[in-house]
Amino acid sequence: MFNKILIANRGEIACRVIRTAHKLGIRCVAVYSEADANAMHVAMADEAVCVGPAASKDSYLKMDTILQVAQETGAQAIHPGYGFLSENAPFVQKCQEAGVVFIGPPASAIEAMGSKSAAKRIMEEAKVPLVPGYHGEDQDPALLKKHSDEMGYPVLLKATAGGGGKGMRVVWSADEFTSALDAAKREAMNGFADDTMLVEKYLTKPRHVEIQVFCDQHGNSVYLAERDCSVQRRHQKVVEEAPAPGMSDVLRKAMGEAAVRAAEAIGYVGAGTVEFLLDEDGSFYFMEMNTRLQVEHPVTELITGQDLVEWQLAVASGQPLPITQDEVQINGHAVEVRIYAEDPDNDFLPATGKLEYLRTPEENRYVRVDTGVREGDEVSIYYDPMIAKLIVWDENRDRAMQRMSQALTEYRIAGMKTNTHFLKRLIDNKAFRDAELDTGFIEKHEADLFEAHGGSQSANPLAMATLYTLLKQKQDRQAQAVRSHDETSPWHQFSGWRLNEEPTHVVRFTQESSGDEPIEHEVTVNWLDRGFRLTLDGHIMIADGTLNDDRLQASLNGHSRNAFVAELNGHVTVFTDQGAFEFQWQRPDLDNHDFEEEGGSLTAPMNGSIVAVLVEPGQKVTKGTAMVIMEAMKMEHTITASADGTVTEIFFQPGDLVEGGADLLAFEAEEA
Ligand code: ADP
Repeated sequence: MFNKILIANRGEIACRVIRTAHKLGIRCVAVYSEADANAMHVAMADEAVCVGPAASKDSYLKMDTILQVAQETGAQAIHPGYGFLSENAPFVQKCQEAGVVFIGPPASAIEAMGSKSAAKRIMEEAKVPLVPGYHGEDQDPALLKKHSDEMGYPVLLKATAGGGGKGMRVVWSADEFTSALDAAKREAMNGFADDTMLVEKYLTKPRHVEIQVFCDQHGNSVYLAERDCSVQRRHQKVVEEAPAPGMSDVLRKAMGEAAVRAAEAIGYVGAGTVEFLLDEDGSFYFMEMNTRLQVEHPVTELITGQDLVEWQLAVASGQPLPITQDEVQINGHAVEVRIYAEDPDNDFLPATGKLEYLRTPEENRYVRVDTGVREGDEVSIYYDPMIAKLIVWDENRDRAMQRMSQALTEYRIAGMKTNTHFLKRLIDNKAFRDAELDTGFIEKHEADLFEAHGGSQSANPLAMATLYTLLKQKQDRQAQAVRSHDETSPWHQFSGWRLNEEPTHVVRFTQESSGDEPIEHEVTVNWLDRGFRLTLDGHIMIADGTLNDDRLQASLNGHSRNAFVAELNGHVTVFTDQGAFEFQWQRPDLDNHDFEEEGGSLTAPMNGSIVAVLVEPGQKVTKGTAMVIMEAMKMEHTITASADGTVTEIFFQPGDLVEGGADLLAFEAEEA
């Protein structure tokens, strides 16, 4: 076994690898970019070396620099995590030449699976079932269309170099074919500098079921059951669970053996995942093989009781697999969700910012949190906006989901938008609980999953936000009084006392809504002997409570409720069983400027680059017209007109980098 390894990655996966390495007494060298100098993986490692500026291509993807660090620090092996250099065959080659072990498969296996079409040709020979389609070299658009016409629509266009759902387009009918092909090729060219396409029959209600395989250097291979990753958005996984609901032993064996055949066909070594589409009739088709440890590997660990990183280290150091196929056992049910900095109500726009407040559920035998950030850390524009993976286990699916629902309530983040509320809705969804899974799940249940939570539902959270603000002011005044040594001054009291005024005052909050305008709330506060009478949006509520740091114990009309509250610059987040509710406190002493102007400009929602400008100066547009396409955090975002009007000026061109908040174009709205 190694005694020192280098981890060529960051974030949660770097931390996760370090945890197992330390358990085995292996020392860890971290590499980091300038943006990550204070990152968690750097703090956890035994040594850490800066390898360059923030952008991944200047740091985490610098093969020679990273190899040099491995050699200088005496690391015997490199764990690539996932992403970055994990499926980069030239890097594996360089490691070999430098005499450093790459903890992963041989370069040849990565190469074999690097192209989706080449992979399909190999799988065909190994008798692994494939989705019907065309994966040939001739890329003549007319030929691609001919195959699609013959197969019948819908078809799926896929970039052969693709990954992460990029460069993929569903084509529903022949007349959409050409524009879909252009779009998929453009995305593939931008993403992978290769726009070779394959065409597949598009299955309309498949499940995504993947098999974890493991091979050692002595010719042994096993499969460690399956994961169901059917709940996806934009073809990216949102929830992963193991075992797959409804999986029979017979089907598991058939898929497992096909997966092992796939791995053996390319001389695989280490941890790999063979992804299949499972059709309604129980047929399954090879999609691709991921030649690395997957993001969702923890669910497999929790049901099999194995540590897959430990297996990776053992296999890479030449040891045989620790167990045989017959010894693989499945116990209970595990589920993982990916907690992201993003706004589900705004087309999952990635968010960035500082984790001003972060509380995670307690970890125990049921709950596991894999993360690479702590309170106060930044989620920056440079890397994937995943904050953590939350994984739970229990004896059966129902209990696991119940536990996940609770754990999500206990995952409290303020300072940026996250998807925790969306995830909780998903996990609590009846159809999800009934395991009615297919890859269209989110689209199908959109109405339930995205229902805005504002308006009347927010009366209690609003009362809590008000109560919090009042109790906090009280605490602050008391602290001030103690400091001033004049505890009797009316200026330090907190009884609603105002010079020449009744003991009443008005607190104003705004709350973001799914509509264009934020909701404005006005709460009139009357001081009672004990507590307050709050008049909120017309309701009257008698409120009292205590505040201990972030823990608010509130009594609302005699009903006691607990919540946690985070506050930053008047931005109050109330975490309840129903989810997190955010309010912006309008300080009474601040002027409330109205920034509404005639027309105005359209701004970039975040840092990124301009992909396309779809309008020209002088052009009249209607509300909702797509005007500019931006790319940020690896995804495209379309900026649309917020009203009917005329574009007067455009400030950027395709290829330009823009900062979040920058004006993209000037726009004159028509009078209503
Ligand atoms: P990527 O490498 O970009 O992740 P994949 O080939 O793994 O792309 O496919 C990602 C997802 O797209 C799958 O999990 C599935 O939901 C969907 N998908 C892929 N191929 C098909 C198909 N032929 N029919 C229906 N859905 C598909």
